[in-house]
Parts: sequence; C-alpha cells; structure tokens
Amino acid sequence: MTQETIEAPNRPAARSGERPPRPASRPHGQWKVDGTAPLNGNEEWKQVDNGLSVRDRIEKIYSKGGFASIDPTDLHGRFRVWGLYTQRKPGIDGGRTATLEPHELEDEFFMLRVRIDGGQLTTEQLRVIADISIDFGRGTADLTDRQNIQLHWIRVEDVPEIWRRLEAVGLGTTEACGDVPRVVLGSPVAGIAADELIDPTAQIDEITSRFIGDETLANLPRKFKTAITGHPSQDVVHEINDVAFVAVEHPELGIGYDLWVGGGLSTSPRLAERLGVFVAPELVADAWHGVAQIFRDYGYRRLRNKARLKFLLADWGTEKFRQVLETEYLEAPLPDGPAAPKPLAHGDHVGVHRQKDGRFYIGATPIVGRVSGPTLAKLAELIEAHGSSRLRTTPHQKLVILDIPEDRVESLITGLDELGLSARPSLIRRGTIACTGIEFCKLAIVETKAFATAAVLDLERTLDGFDLPHPISLHVNGCPNSCARIQTADIGLKGQLIMNDAGEQVPGYQVHLGGGLATADREDAGLGRTVRGLKVEADGIAVYVERVVKRFLDERDAAADETF
Ligand code: SF4
Repeated sequence: MTQETIEAPNRPAARSGERPPRPASRPHGQWKVDGTAPLNGNEEWKQVDNGLSVRDRIEKIYSKGGFASIDPTDLHGRFRVWGLYTQRKPGIDGGRTATLEPHELEDEFFMLRVRIDGGQLTTEQLRVIADISIDFGRGTADLTDRQNIQLHWIRVEDVPEIWRRLEAVGLGTTEACGDVPRVVLGSPVAGIAADELIDPTAQIDEITSRFIGDETLANLPRKFKTAITGHPSQDVVHEINDVAFVAVEHPELGIGYDLWVGGGLSTSPRLAERLGVFVAPELVADAWHGVAQIFRDYGYRRLRNKARLKFLLADWGTEKFRQVLETEYLEAPLPDGPAAPKPLAHGDHVGVHRQKDGRFYIGATPIVGRVSGPTLAKLAELIEAHGSSRLRTTPHQKLVILDIPEDRVESLITGLDELGLSARPSLIRRGTIACTGIEFCKLAIVETKAFATAAVLDLERTLDGFDLPHPISLHVNGCPNSCARIQTADIGLKGQLIMNDAGEQVPGYQVHLGGGLATADREDAGLGRTVRGLKVEADGIAVYVERVVKRFLDERDAAADETF
C-alpha cells in the first residue's frame, strides 16, 4: 500500500444488517437528489460514526486491549481515516488474494501513512519519522507517489505514542486514507524555484487548516484527491486528481490558478478536465471547498466503483459542473480563465537547480521509493551538515533537498549517493516507480518493489551505452488498482497471475504502453493503451523492458525528438 488508490473490493454490505429494499429506478445515492439513506455497508458505518471518532477509541481502548480488542468495523473502515491499514500476512500468495476474507489476509500489524501536505518537511520532522520507523516500524519507510511516507509493522499499542511524536513537530495522520480529503499534493519546489509563477504554500495551508479534520467533509462518497502547483513544470500530476489548481497568468487579473476537476485512475481511468475558470489565490480554498461539497452532496454513493468524482463529471460535463459550483456553492461566479501552457520540462526535479535566492535545490531518487528509518536519520544529519534544514517529498517517489550553498552541492551529492539516493540517476532509475505490492498490501496479486528494483539494476547494466533521449517511465502495480499510475507511464505493468509456457500459474504483469501526462512535446495527456494479449512473467521484467526500449531507440525519429 505504498500508493493511495487502495480500496477494498466491494464486500457484502450487510455484515451488520440487511440492505434496504431496492427501489424501482435505482438511485445513485446522491444525497441532494436521492436523500441520505445509506445504500451499502460502507455508507452505513460512515453515517453512524465517521472515522474521525475512532481516534478516541484507539487511544483509550484499542491501544490498551491490543489487536484483538478492535471492533471489526473500526478496523476495516474507520482506522483508515487515521492512516492505518492492516497489512498483509506474510506468506499468502497472490492466488489467494481474491478468495480470502480481509481478516484471513491481514496481519496484526498496520501500515501507517504519515501525511505530508505539499511534501514540505524539516530535518527535525524527518528525524522524528526516522525514529518512529526505527522504534516502532522495524526500520521500514517508503516514499509514496503522493508525497507521504509510509511505515509498516506498526502495532496498535504504539499508535498513541506515534501520534504524540508526530504532532509535537506539526505532522499527523488525520485523513491520510479513507473517504475523506486526502493529502494535498503541492509543488515540491514551492517558494524556492527561480521560475515558479506563484508559491502555493499559503493556499495549501489554508485548505488543510480549514478543512482537514472537518466533520462536514469526513463522509465523502470516496477518496478526494487534491493537487496545487505554481511551477511551470506542473509537477503534481494534476490530471489525475479530483480537484487541481495549476498556476496561470490571466491577461487582466494577474497570476492565479486554472481549476481542473474529475481526474482519477484505478480501474476506470479518466483525466481531469478544466472548468475554464480563473481562481484568484485568495479564493482557492473556497473554490476547493465548493468542489468538495459538490462531491459530498452529488457524488454517487450506491456503487463504490462509481463513487469517484470523475463519474459525476462524466455525466454532468464541465458546463453543468461549473454552473452548480458557482450558483450553489460560491458567493459569486468565477471569471473565465486561460489554460496554462503545457510544461516544457519534466517535473520530477531530479538533479541540481538554482533557487531564486541563489542557493540550490537538489532532487534525488532512491530506487522505487524505498528508503528506511536509518537512511532517513542519516539524511537529516547530512542535510544539516550542509547548512540546510528543509526538504520536500515529491509525487514521483523522490526527495528534493533545499537551500544548499553552491560550494556544498557536490559534497551533498556524494553524501546522498552513499545513502542510495542518487541526484544523477540513470534515466531508468529516475523513471521507475512501484507500489507496495504483495509484501504488505492485502489487495496485491504480485510482488512489485523487489522485482522493479532488480529490473532497474539489470537495465542500468544492459542499457549502459545506449543513449536514452529522456527518462522512460516504468510504473509497476501489484494489482488492477493503479497506485503506481500505470496508465500515465511509457511502460505500465499491472500485476496479475499469468500462465507460463509450462501451463503453471505464476506472478506476472499485463503490459500497458504509451501513457503519459501533457508536456510540450506531447499533443495531449493520454492514458496509453493496454496491450491485451501481452503478459510478462514477473522475473522477466528487465528482459522485456530492455527489448521494448531498444526497439524504441532503433525505430524512433531522432530528428523529430520522438518520445516513447
Ligand atoms: Fe495499490 Fe499496489 Fe496494493 Fe494494488 S497492490 S492496491 S496497486 S498498493
């Protein structure tokens, strides 16, 4: 569960009771249209008691009584709202994922997601996360592709102390998972990049301080993902968020934001669409609130696989969406606004870049987001030894170190290399991300991180000497969910069991090619295509990718700088 599309399959609603009788024409469960009567089990428990309330029980009851004392509805529902997910029991193969009940798949340990809005961290905060990982998480730590850090092997007994430590330095896990407003993605170079249009930090802070933990938004139809960027590289994958604000210059009104809504991947991917409005910085939080309320009031709740905002947008269209936003939720209509130009540069911020104040920021990558508590502790030390106290996480499973004086840059890069964090990675290492997979995720069918790591190391060897024109993105998912955004990658691999030549079922991946997000060298963002018949065995990833990449290099039109 490194990434955050995690959603339990639709389980029978009524472990706790009977379904309401089915009406003649089946409502979508939109509160403002159909009324608020719950139409499935998830809606029932959320309405009885949304997840915010479970914190008190964790502190007073479950942390004292241990795993066995936890009410099942809290365990499989409300705990998520506090970033807690039971992790997969070791040794259960992917073939049994779909056949076992949640309690049979899960361990008595938790994944804990630390929420890092905007990816903004100090070394003091990093050290606290590192210490928690070492003291309570067996040293585990993964950078996610939503700027969070996830720890594993957490016991419920330790959660109150973990919260105490996190909150003492301004971090937390409130609404890190569940049907709530999740972490707000923010440009990892907010406030520091020389070429940024606007620093979105104030907007991120206003949204989180006004609305995270707000009871009125604690029961949404499903997860609600937000992204905000003021950087021209559009570095927050805004096209796949429920709501996103992308900086733009309005010819009369100055710098503000272009509002996008309705993106999301998972099993029914859809890119977000522009509403065509201009949002002044001081109105961002209100506009965000309006979109969140539309989702709460009009979002579909009957079927969980239709409950994301993208399905409502698909039915309404952008014109109606804008009209409802302006007439029912905002005090005044929003002005029309221009589209932001397509980004000229890749927004992962890897490498060395000059800040607006003359110092430097350095983007570095581990392999597939995997770090550890001890690594994070050493990283905090390294950053401080180079005169800085700030860093950022990114939506690409990377880190950006800020405020480094010019004469310390090379020394920092050497230190990062020693920690397995490369500021000058191969283009393959740079472009590869992987979800958690079967190691910890209950929904996984195959392993991901170890296979992807081995593939990166193999490919660095076999493609050494080949002149890749730009990073080739390789995204690896452990199941049909899309936590690692396979539809937006050059090469996306979706975990499933496949039949090998000997007729045995083995872990493998379905191949998805040619996805990507909008850049100046692409006509438009596109979700690529699944190569239906093409499946590759998990331990053959490196060979397969090598073949595809070499073929691309052989056949590409270099003069036209053809992309993958
Ligand atoms: Fe997400 Fe990966 Fe788990 Fe599937 S296996 S739910 S893609 S983390």
